[in-house]
Amino acid sequence: MLTAAEATKAILAAVNTLESETVSLAAATGRVLAQSVKAERDQPPFDRVMMDGIAIAYAEFADGNRSFQIQSTQAAGDPAQTLKPAHAIEIMTGASLPAGADCIIPVERITVNESGAHVEANYATSEQQFVHAAGSDHKKDTELLQPGTRISPMDIAIIASCGLANVSVSKQPRISVISTGNELIAAGEAIAAHQIRLSNGPAIVAMLEENGYADATHEHLVDEPELLRERIAQHLQHADVLILSGGVSMGRADYVPQVLHDLGVEVTFHKISQRPGKPMWFGMGPDGQAVFALPGNPVSTLVCARQYVIPALRHMSGMAAAAPQFASLTTEVTFKPQLTNFLPVKLISNAAGNVLAMPVHTNTSGDFASLSGTDGYVELALEQSDFKTGTTVPLHRWRM
Ligand code: AMP
Ligand code: MG
Repeated sequence: MLTAAEATKAILAAVNTLESETVSLAAATGRVLAQSVKAERDQPPFDRVMMDGIAIAYAEFADGNRSFQIQSTQAAGDPAQTLKPAHAIEIMTGASLPAGADCIIPVERITVNESGAHVEANYATSEQQFVHAAGSDHKKDTELLQPGTRISPMDIAIIASCGLANVSVSKQPRISVISTGNELIAAGEAIAAHQIRLSNGPAIVAMLEENGYADATHEHLVDEPELLRERIAQHLQHADVLILSGGVSMGRADYVPQVLHDLGVEVTFHKISQRPGKPMWFGMGPDGQAVFALPGNPVSTLVCARQYVIPALRHMSGMAAAAPQFASLTTEVTFKPQLTNFLPVKLISNAAGNVLAMPVHTNTSGDFASLSGTDGYVELALEQSDFKTGTTVPLHRWRM
C-alpha cells in the first residue's frame, strides 16, 4: 500500500500536460499562463513626473532662485517640452519630464500670480525630486510573469502593461464527475427512508470550480456493471479527467475498479495508507485520461479530491507545486493506526502571527456536516501517534 506522499508522486508522474490555447485578456483571469510575459518597454518608459506642480532646473533653485516665469503647461500625455532658463513649466502627474528640467515642486508649495510661480519660504528640495526615473522599475524584456502562473488581477495589469491583448494559457481540462451508488437520490427528488441524499457529485464540482476548474459535468450512476461500463466508456471519450466517487471498496457492489480495468484504464495504485480515504484508486486511461476513483464517504471524497485531484490538475496546467504550509495544533491529538491522518481543522491566528489549527471532530468519514466552516485539514504523520498541543504540522487548505 502506498503512503500519501508516494501516491501524490505516482499521480504527478503519470498525468499529462494539457495543451495551450490563446484567450483574450478579458477572459484570462484565473487561467494558467502557458507563456512568459516580458516587459514591452522600460518602466517607466520616460522620466515620469510624480506630482502636480512645476518643473524647474534644480541648479537654478540651488543658486537661490525662488521665482520662475511660467513658460507653459504640460499635461500627462503631452510630448515633453523644453524648459527655458529661469522658467518653470506647469506640470501634471504622469507627464514626461521636460528637457532641461530635473526637479518637481508640488503645487501645494507654490503661489502663482502675474509675475510667475513663487516657491514658499524655507522650502528645501533636491535634484530629481518627484521624478520617477525611466527604467527604474524594470527594463525592456525583463520577464515579469513565468509560464505556470495562475493569472490574478495584478497579473492582468502586468499583461496589459506589456501591450498583450491576448495570452497563451493552458487549456481547461474537461472533467467528468461520476458518482455511483444505488442508495443515492439527488436534491429535488422524492426520497425514501432507506435512501441517502447525493452530495459528493455537487461538492466535487464545487471544489473544482473554487480551484479554477470550471469545465466539469456531473452524472450519477447506479451500481450496475453494464451501465457503469457503457457510461464510463462515454466519459473516457470526452474527458481529460474522470473523477468517480463510490464503489471502490471491498463490497459486492463495488464494481468500479473492475469496470475501469475492462475499459483499458490501467491501475497505478489502489489504496493509500491514510484515513480518511484509504480505498482510493487511481489509473490512466488508454488515451492518457487521468482517472481518479474516490471512496464514497463524503469526508473521504472531499479530502481525496483536495489532496490528490486538485494538485494533479494544477500539475497538468503547468503550475509548480504549491509551497508547503504549516499550522500548530491547538489541542493534543492521538491517532493510533499506522496511517496518515488527514484531520479537518478551523484556522485562527494569534497576536504573534502564528497560524493555529483547531481540529474538528468528524463522527465518521461520512460526517460531512462537521466540515462546514473548516479551512482545510492537517496532515498527521503515519509514523507518529501522539501529537502534543503546539506541534507544527503540514496544513492543506481546501482552496489552494
Ligand atoms: P461507497 O464508497 O460507495 O462504499 O460509499 C461509502 C458511503 O458513502 C456510503 O454510505 C454511501 O452511501 C456514501 N456515499 C457514496 N457516494 C455518495 C454521494 N455521492 N453522496 C453522498 N454520500 C455518498
Ligand atoms: Mg457505493
